[in-house]
Amino acid sequence: MTVSLVKEKLLIDGEWIDTDQTHKIYNKYTNELFTEISKADEKMVDKAVEGAFKAYKKENFPPQQRYKVLMKTAELLLEKLEEIAKIIAQEGGKPITEARTEVRRSVSTFQMAAEESKRLVGEIIPNYNAEGRFIYTVKKPVGVVVAITPFNFPLNLVSHKVAPALAAGNPVIIKPASDTATTTIKLSEILVEAGVPKGYLHCLVGSGSVVGEQLLQDERIAHYTFTGSPEVGKHIQKTIGFRKATLELGANSATIVHHDGDIEAAASKLAKMAFANAGQICISVQRIYVQESIRERFLEMFLHQVSLLKVGDPLDPETNVGPMISGKEVARIESWVKEAELQGANIEIGGKREGNIFYPTVLTNVTGDMKVLREETFAPVVSVIPYDTIEEAIDMVNDSKYGLQAGIYTKDLALTYKIPYLLEVGGVIINDTCCYRIDQMPYGGVKESGLGKEGPAFAIKELVEDITVVVNLE
Ligand code: NAD
Repeated sequence: MTVSLVKEKLLIDGEWIDTDQTHKIYNKYTNELFTEISKADEKMVDKAVEGAFKAYKKENFPPQQRYKVLMKTAELLLEKLEEIAKIIAQEGGKPITEARTEVRRSVSTFQMAAEESKRLVGEIIPNYNAEGRFIYTVKKPVGVVVAITPFNFPLNLVSHKVAPALAAGNPVIIKPASDTATTTIKLSEILVEAGVPKGYLHCLVGSGSVVGEQLLQDERIAHYTFTGSPEVGKHIQKTIGFRKATLELGANSATIVHHDGDIEAAASKLAKMAFANAGQICISVQRIYVQESIRERFLEMFLHQVSLLKVGDPLDPETNVGPMISGKEVARIESWVKEAELQGANIEIGGKREGNIFYPTVLTNVTGDMKVLREETFAPVVSVIPYDTIEEAIDMVNDSKYGLQAGIYTKDLALTYKIPYLLEVGGVIINDTCCYRIDQMPYGGVKESGLGKEGPAFAIKELVEDITVVVNLE
């Protein structure tokens, strides 16, 4: 496995294919050409779907083999950790320490999915009013699965789709975000080396509007597992009709710092998690609600912690905040921050750009109608907002079209029991920030943050069909 200017190929029905069309991938920090990748055309997309569909019909991937392939993939990923982390850091702009963590997480995602391949058992249904009948269920792979993925976790978010889909016995077609597709191609190489059978894995690079769209239209595909923006998620749901989708979408996640919480711990963890991966994480801390009585003290500590963050080259192990994914995205967030400033917000720190880097930015005096609060910023920008009562804080957290995760720092035991019922989110993190995820936990949002849960044991439930069997014993 090498990283060079050799053009990367696509994996279609067991073959590595070079195409006439090329997608160029740039180093997000230096803007130099990093690599080139073949782009799929209509015929290739069709060939991949045909190959996947045939593999599904043949059913030649038994659970024992799935376990071996997934465990071997985990082993190979661990062996190639440094190499893959460097690819993620260069094509994704992710600081190398975070990129290494992503590879380690992906190793465990594959291991957990491998374990799930052993647990695909149905149920025996009690027959108290159905004498002479034996009723049970079996779990059957749903069919061809399409995984459409974003740029911000090009390895682990792909793993969260591919590993459970294969564990359930489904052939998978991956359509990764083009800007970070080298990582996904490397993962595909590893899966092939680990022994994934022909037809069970395909990797197609191309734009969402062409390759993605063709995949959405193809009725041979049974399930779409998508992570990305709410706009594309809504479009997928509308397009696929009765076929199913798991949708992991955006958010403007919030964390509450209550007067009785550990303010120091909150200030230091929030400074880290608001700017990890340059704020380009779906559960990134975008809104911090702080009780008025501790606001000044918290803000001072928080700004101090933010000022300590090291901004720069993602390959430098000291770097905390690297570049954003593109100059276009930097220009977008710069204009949102300027607009907020014109509307009365204060920039406490940051607010400036340098190449593809947007400096960690903290805003105060923001109001609910500003884009920086209302929309998903997906950038290293966070707002600190005061509140008086906890009810007021909960209302402000819930005043969002999104609902992925929320955090709260408090020592009030009664509040920790009540608050999961009061917040409109898929996950509540107590005494940590909203930006917390480990890979075995059920993960997914409500409202426009999505449908369905990920985490191998949960994702696999969406990737099998429960078939009821009734046996007449008379
Ligand atoms: P995006 O929606 O622009 O792209 C995601 C994928 O969808 C890409 O592979 C893209 O090519 C594809 N796509 C685009 N148009 C399509 C179409 N018409 N048909 C089919 N596929 C199409 O998202 P992005 O900019 O890569 O990622 C950022 C977004 O992802 C943010 O909103 C972020 O919150 C979200 N995200 C959510 C989670 C989660 O778990 N909830 C995790 C990470 C990122």
